Amino acid sequence: MSAFTLIRTELETRRRELVVVSAADVDPDYRRVLLAGELDGWTSPGADDHVRLFFPVEGIPMETWPSREFTPIPVGPAVAFEFVLHDGGVASDWARAAGPGDRVVMGGPRRTMAIDGEPAWYVLLGDRTAEPAIRRFLASIPEDTPRHVVIADTPQLIEAMNALPELPGDGFVFAAAEQSVVAAARAFLESRGIPIDSAVIKGYWRRGLSADAPK
Ligand SMILES: Cc1cc2nc3c(=O)[nH]c(=O)nc-3n(C[C@H](O)[C@H](O)[C@H](O)COP(=O)(O)OP(=O)(O)OC[C@H]3O[C@@H](n4cnc5c(N)ncnc54)[C@H](O)[C@@H]3O)c2cc1C
Repeated sequence: MSAFTLIRTELETRRRELVVVSAADVDPDYRRVLLAGELDGWTSPGADDHVRLFFPVEGIPMETWPSREFTPIPVGPAVAFEFVLHDGGVASDWARAAGPGDRVVMGGPRRTMAIDGEPAWYVLLGDRTAEPAIRRFLASIPEDTPRHVVIADTPQLIEAMNALPELPGDGFVFAAAEQSVVAAARAFLESRGIPIDSAVIKGYWRRGLSADAPK
């Protein structure tokens, strides 16, 4: 039996209107936006929870606004998001221009994951889109639990993953980055004999394809 199991729970959700309180560039490619608003009863207990943000378009109903997935960072009675800024994306363009008073609608998280038990170690791998989730995992890990954390663009991330030392015992792997990380991370798990159900592997975006594109 493994030292831990991943427990997934459905959450009740509704759409909430949020307003930008402040926004600031962390660096030229990364922007943090703090929002407040209809957050009564809202909860995001899991490190890799994600929500859907709907970005306003004048003159069309909210249900048809473009939407993208992001990792919420609860901050007291408010919520922050961190956006990788890149060329030609609805979410990225919105974040780049976001300032106090701008509106967005948030749905979710619809489900959450908890780790029941104590992994012997954590491997947390991501590109910058996964920085918020990785930081949330780090905040939840006991201080003396060994961890390997790599945040890098996907090719370097895959290289660093394959160069990780031997990992004895039952540990937890989180890997989220550009879609090509998925196959590489699955191969990594297999090569190290790590069960797939001890891991969360996600493609957060696809090079050359909008999140609107059919899967
Ligand atoms: C569960 C989950 C959680 C996520 N959390 C976060 C988060 O907290 N912060 C965050 O920044 N992203 C996060 N993402 C990724 C984000 O949803 C995608 O990057 C999304 O495609 C951005 O939408 P967009 O409108 O800016 O670009 P899109 O319209 O989707 O894409 C337009 C173009 O930009 C490219 N592109 C998209 N994303 C990137 C990128 N990051 N770098 C370079 N080029 C890109 C596409 O390949 C496409 O060519 C998360 C994704 C998932 C599934």
